[in-house]
Amino acid sequence: MPTLALTTAYDLPPAAKTREDHRILNAFYGPVPPGQRRTPMRELISTVLSHRTTHRDEELAYERMLEAFGDWQGVVDAPTAELAHAIRTTRWPDTQAPRIQEILRRIKAEFGGYSLDALADWPVERGLTWLTDMPGIGLKTASLVLLFNFQKPVLPVDTHVHRVAQRVGLIGPKVSVEKAHQVLLSQLPAEATDLLNFHKHNYWLGQHICFFTKPNCPACPLKGLCNYYLEHYGPASAAELAAVAPEWTGEKLH
Ligand code: SF4
Repeated sequence: MPTLALTTAYDLPPAAKTREDHRILNAFYGPVPPGQRRTPMRELISTVLSHRTTHRDEELAYERMLEAFGDWQGVVDAPTAELAHAIRTTRWPDTQAPRIQEILRRIKAEFGGYSLDALADWPVERGLTWLTDMPGIGLKTASLVLLFNFQKPVLPVDTHVHRVAQRVGLIGPKVSVEKAHQVLLSQLPAEATDLLNFHKHNYWLGQHICFFTKPNCPACPLKGLCNYYLEHYGPASAAELAAVAPEWTGEKLH
C-alpha cells in the first residue's frame, strides 16, 4: 500500500486543488523516470496516428508505414492511397495519410530535412504556433512534443487528464480540453519536470482508476479531494482514505 497520509480537502479553491492533486499523485506513483521515450519525429507522427486509435494499432501503423516506404522521404513520395493502406489500423487512414505527407513537407521546408531538433532553440510560443498550424496537430500533440522531447514548460491535456481534472474540480465543468491546457498550466509550477509528472500521473489515473464509465473511486488516492467522490459517496472517512489501490510505479505503465 502507498504510504500516503490523506485527508479531506473538498473545499480548496481550484488552483490549490491542482497543487494538492500533484502532491498526492507524486507520492502515489512516484516521479516519472527522466529521459524521452521516442525521437521528436516519432513522437509527432505517432501522436497523429494515435488519434482515437489504440496504442497497439498506432505502433502497427507506424511500423508498416516505414517498412513499406523506407524513410520519411519515401512516405512523402508514396501514392497517398498506398500510404493510407499502410496505416489502415488507424481510425481514419484516408484523412491521416495526406495529413502526414503535408506535415512532412512542411518540416522539410522549414528545417531542410526531416528533423525537429531545431525546436529546442525556439521560444515556446513560436513552437506551439508553428506546430498547431499544421493539419491534424492540435494543442495536445504540440504540447506533448515540446514537453516530452524538448522539456519546454507546457502541459498536454488529453481526455484522461481532462476527465480527472473536471471530476476532481481542478477546472470547471464547462472548461474545454483546449482551454484546460492554459487553466491547469497557470495553476502549476512552470517547471517541465512538474508538468511532465502532473500530465503522466493524471493520465495514468484516468487510464487505470478514473475510468470514463464506472470510475473506481474506492481505490483512488484523490478521493479526499474529488468533487465527484463527495457527490456520489459523501466525505471520505479515515478508513476510506486509507483504503486506496496498491501502489503502482511509472515503470509499470507507459
Ligand atoms: S475519486 Fe473517483 S471520480 Fe474522483 S478522481 Fe478518483 S476515480 Fe476519479
